[in-house]
Amino acid sequence: MILDCAVIGGGPAGLNAALVLGRSRRKTILFDDNKPRNAVTSESHGFITRDGIHPQEFKRIAQGELSKYPNVRLERQRVHRINKENNLFQVETENAEVYSAKKIIIATGFKEILPDIPKAKEFYGQSLFGCPYCDGWELKRSAAGSDR
Ligand SMILES: Cc1cc2nc3c(=O)[nH]c(=O)nc-3n(C[C@H](O)[C@H](O)[C@H](O)COP(=O)(O)OP(=O)(O)OC[C@H]3O[C@@H](n4cnc5c(N)ncnc54)[C@H](O)[C@@H]3O)c2cc1C
Repeated sequence: MILDCAVIGGGPAGLNAALVLGRSRRKTILFDDNKPRNAVTSESHGFITRDGIHPQEFKRIAQGELSKYPNVRLERQRVHRINKENNLFQVETENAEVYSAKKIIIATGFKEILPDIPKAKEFYGQSLFGCPYCDGWELKRSAAGSDR
């Protein structure tokens, strides 16, 4: 079977891409090995209707919504290599399976590179954060000593 699209990465970006492709009746596989950037945190903020949700709960709801679309399949495995041959992408997974797709969407997210500060890794996502829009509200009292 030739896919219309292979989406690599099943975080919020890839999940939403798969939803729109599903609704467009495109044959789609979403590959995800579930190692998201925000794995260190237990609350995700700033997305209306889902403010404060656990990232894995967000993912569970999104995957549930995708299950309505039989033309979208979720493959919980890592993509190792992509080659382009004769206008088709050959997507090879960690289990040595190969899928042919007319289009690909790379939604693999960012990799965190933390500064070389002792214990930064230990506190990251608990009391050390990089994004004031994501986590500043929860820390506002401790930062300025005020509740505003
Ligand atoms: C501490 C912390 C707190 C944050 N708080 C917030 C917040 O409150 N609100 C907010 O909006 N954002 C927050 N973020 C940012 C959040 O991580 C991103 O907004 C979000 O994860 C981006 O989604 P994404 O789909 O681009 O990438 P990701 O969520 O990182 O998803 C990428 C997915 O692709 C998969 N993948 C990667 N390579 C492959 C491959 N080769 N094959 C198969 N699968 C693959 C990964 O395993 C992962 O599941 C926070 C980040 C951090 C670190």
